[in-house]
Amino acid sequence: MTSRSLQPWECPTCGDRLSFEILDDERFLVAWSCLNCGLVRATEPDSR
Ligand SMILES: [Zn+2]
Repeated sequence: MTSRSLQPWECPTCGDRLSFEILDDERFLVAWSCLNCGLVRATEPDSR
């Protein structure tokens, strides 16, 4: 694995590992938070 592409579980700001918390299991809504810089992201299901 030599890919340098940013992984969804890596913080885009500081590159630290993100911890996730499942907000809605049925809709697969997950919140990602960085413990290092405090960044928070949320993934949402495909919306059309
Ligand atoms: Zn961060």
